[in-house]
This record gives sequence, C-alpha cells and structure tokens, in this order.
Amino acid sequence: LVVVKDINKHYGELHVLKNINAVVNRGEVVVVIGPSGSGKSTLCRAINRLETIDDGVITIDGVKLPAEGKALAHLRADVGMVFQAFNLFAHKTVLENVTLGPMKVRGLSKAEAEKKAMALLERVGVANQAKKMPAQLSGGQQQRVAIARALAMEPKLILLDEPTSALDPEMINEVLEVMVDLANEGMTMIVVTHEMGFARKAADRVIFMAEGEIVEETSPEEFFTNPQSTRAQDFLSKIL
Ligand code: ATP
Ligand code: MG
Repeated sequence: LVVVKDINKHYGELHVLKNINAVVNRGEVVVVIGPSGSGKSTLCRAINRLETIDDGVITIDGVKLPAEGKALAHLRADVGMVFQAFNLFAHKTVLENVTLGPMKVRGLSKAEAEKKAMALLERVGVANQAKKMPAQLSGGQQQRVAIARALAMEPKLILLDEPTSALDPEMINEVLEVMVDLANEGMTMIVVTHEMGFARKAADRVIFMAEGEIVEETSPEEFFTNPQSTRAQDFLSKIL
C-alpha cells in the first residue's frame, strides 16, 4: 500500500532522512520507534506530504505522491493522521470536527456525515460528548475524537505520531485500546510510539530509526527481546 523508496530529506545542513526504504502492506501495522530527533515524525509527515522530500519516491496505492492541488487533497483524505498534540478544531464541536472533512472532501450531505460521525464517536466511546467543544474533553477523549475524525474520511491508511505521549497515564490505555481494535479490524497503520504493550499486541513489524536511518526492521518480539544493533540495545535499555 505504501512504498517509500530511497528518500532523503535535509533541513539545511541536517540530514534528517537518509536513504529510507520501507514498504507497508495493506492491513499491516508497523510501529516506528527510535530516539528523539531520529526522523520519525519527519517520515510520517513526508508520507502525508506535509513535508517535502529532497529525492526518492513515495507511492500510496500505486500513486506517486502528488505535489499540489486537488490530487494532494485527495491523497491527504486517503491518509488519516493523528498527532501527539490533539489538533482538533478548537472552535468547532466534537461532532463538527468529525463531519467537516467528509462533507468538504468526500461530498457527504450534513445528515450523512452526522450519521457516520455518530457511529464513529460511538465506536471510540465518546458519542455522549458530541455536542461539546474540544477544550471540555479530557486528553484521552480528545485523542479518541481525533481518531474518529481520521476514520470518518475512510482512509486507506492511518498514521499516528506518538498519539499517547502527551496523555496522563490513566488516559493512555483508553486510546491504546481503540488503536488495538483498529489494528484487529485490519486497518493499515503506521504508529510512532514507545508503547511496548501496543507494539507487542498489535504490530506486525517494528522499524527502529536512529539518526535518520532505519537501523532495524523486525518483529516486535524479536526487537524487544533480541535487538541486534547496539543503537537499539542502548535505546531499549533507556526506555524499558
Ligand atoms: P521525537 O521523538 O522527539 O518526536 P522524531 O524522531 O520525530 O523525534 P523529527 O521530528 O522527525 O524527529 O526530527 C528529526 C530532526 O529534524 C531533528 O533533529 C529535528 O530537530 C529536525 N527538524 C524537525 N523539523 C524541523 C524543521 N521544520 N526545521 C528544521 N529542523 C527540523
Ligand atoms: Mg516526533
């Protein structure tokens, strides 16, 4: 579904993505893990074309990432994104947050969009918050709304960039549970997270990045119990 081929990215002098190659198949859950500054978010943003790349190619469902215009809007609609900081539209209700994209980009009527949004809010367990403004919700609830909003576009793929790292501990599990359900339902997911429990339960593969490179790519079991590189060993000794 996603093919990343020989991509490079610099920020000025800084070489943040170094010849990255990766494939994510339909229905696969890939966890990306690695030290701060290793390029995980940059890679996610490149896959969603929120960030340009210097060279290399990214294709999604066989289509090369478009540079601009309508094609780009459609590509973004196909790739759901959930960020670390709950980036809901602050001045819109929870329900409006979830209906906006489907109405604007997918052309649904308000009634259709609301029906679908309520079903999704139900699914992530926040249907009773639909009329509220985002600021009136807990972090965990906001992040579940962000997931519902991404799902409302019926994306081919969802990217989640440290979706639980800004949450208080007691709220992490409610979001991870939603993510595990999604994974079990066959959603294709790229998840940047250090939550080993999630990786063990849901990931098909772990990609370990350090200093802009993919250093290891293996099963979660293998990665957490028997990391091959010293960089992965060092990293794991700090987080586990
Ligand atoms: P973290 O775990 O802290 O989120 P990360 O692996 O997601 O880290 P990135 O955010 O991808 O790392 O950043 C990779 C490198 O690129 C870092 O050194 C960062 O300082 C740098 N960087 C990121 N965004 C920019 C930017 N817009 N301009 C310049 N440098 C940037
Ligand atoms: Mg990041």
